[in-house]
Amino acid sequence: MNLIKKTGIVICQRTYRESDKMLTLFLKDLGKINSYVHGAKKLNNKLFCASQTFLYAQFLLRENKNFYSIDQIDIIENLSPKNYINFCYATYFCELVDKYLMQNEPANNILILLVKTLKILNSQIDTQYIARIFEFKFMKLNGFEAQTNFCHNCHQLKNQMYFDENGVVCKNCLDPTKTFCKISPNAINLLNHLVHTKFNELITYSFEKSIIKELITPSRIFIYSNLEINLNSKKFICEIENSK
Ligand SMILES: [Zn+2]
Repeated sequence: MNLIKKTGIVICQRTYRESDKMLTLFLKDLGKINSYVHGAKKLNNKLFCASQTFLYAQFLLRENKNFYSIDQIDIIENLSPKNYINFCYATYFCELVDKYLMQNEPANNILILLVKTLKILNSQIDTQYIARIFEFKFMKLNGFEAQTNFCHNCHQLKNQMYFDENGVVCKNCLDPTKTFCKISPNAINLLNHLVHTKFNELITYSFEKSIIKELITPSRIFIYSNLEINLNSKKFICEIENSK
């Protein structure tokens, strides 16, 4: 039996048996793991309050035959969203990480991205802008970098450009059997920043709401054409973004 101390975040929680909880933790150097908190649902359990989704903490874990149980939680910051819309986005980011990443594969850069993103969700920054930053950075860190400067096939930039699963594409190179949408020069410029500008710089920029909205469809095309995953949170994110 090994004792391990790691920093990370709770990305999912489920009830397990009657009074236990199973937490999916995303940890530095360990990646995504499942761990158990015994008696977590009993109110007098000292881990009860701590074992919540979006908690950023240092976890003392007991490893036993590929199972982890949590011995202690030292809270660094509770990154719980402060309103319903932010809660939906935070759930979506965590689900994207949970569904796409493999168990026990360290992904420290993605952990940093997730923590930074959850931290700024409660700021004044436009939530749709935050979502697009997270999505295109998440995709890039997983090896999917959208082409943003010119057509991904012929390397030219024409008056009217489109967007498909590889990024920006011209009319001549467009494959009509694949999902695509139109994209304006302003949206291409924003996309270029999302992919190539550093996170800390990006959050100091501001873009017009209409340009940010233009990237809703490209972001969905890019994620769902490249990652074969089905997200429960997709439905409510679509509802929020289509109505705002
Ligand atoms: Zn082309």
